[in-house]
Amino acid sequence: MNNTNKHQGLRNQLAKILEDKGIIDRNVLEAIKKIPRHLFLDSSFENFAYQDKAFPIGKDQTISQPYTVAFQSQLLEVKKGDKILEIGTGSGYQTAVLCFLGAKVYSVERQNELFKKTSRFLPTLGYRPKSFVFGDGYIGLESEAPFDSIIVTAGAPIIPQPLMAQLKIGGRLVIPLGEKIQVMTLLIRKNETQFERHEFGNFIFVPLLENKN
Ligand code: SAH
Repeated sequence: MNNTNKHQGLRNQLAKILEDKGIIDRNVLEAIKKIPRHLFLDSSFENFAYQDKAFPIGKDQTISQPYTVAFQSQLLEVKKGDKILEIGTGSGYQTAVLCFLGAKVYSVERQNELFKKTSRFLPTLGYRPKSFVFGDGYIGLESEAPFDSIIVTAGAPIIPQPLMAQLKIGGRLVIPLGEKIQVMTLLIRKNETQFERHEFGNFIFVPLLENKN
């Protein structure tokens, strides 16, 4: 596989950049050092793959910026064995980070070609989520609920109610909220009816779209 010492050097540099930007979770930084991001992109982007930037992955979608992936992963406070619902599989890079952290991942994608491509590709790197689901993240994944954590990797105009309902007590929902610009939001479920809310500044995501395509 095309994953050389040169790529390793670039990944180490990227992890250092993320640390300088405030990422402190050692396991997340380790994931950034291990996962070959260049293989998640079209080969024409290979030379840029370890820049801290989002890139197109086709179908008007993007692979998230590494800082954003690391920031969301850190907010999840993943423990080995956590059952995590991911909305927006995309390239599968964030999915790989969650698998690396030892989570049991259920990843939902609404765009059929990305769903097919990534569900074939990711296991070839040794990252195996519990399941890839072709579906609409607005409704979550009732059949596998409740989850220890839920992560949404597209900008949501509202918090989809089913996602709140599918979270365990004590569970964490990390979701970028807003139309053009999103506020990174963490909800922690306190009990049946109450959620603690924390906000972490602005990010930019592609939109969370309704229905499948
Ligand atoms: N974590 C991914 C992010 C991809 S961009 C990565 O880094 O590659 C966001 C993804 O969310 C896109 O693939 C898009 O198709 C998907 N998406 C948008 N709305 C969705 C929905 N309602 N349900 C599931 N996936 C959705």
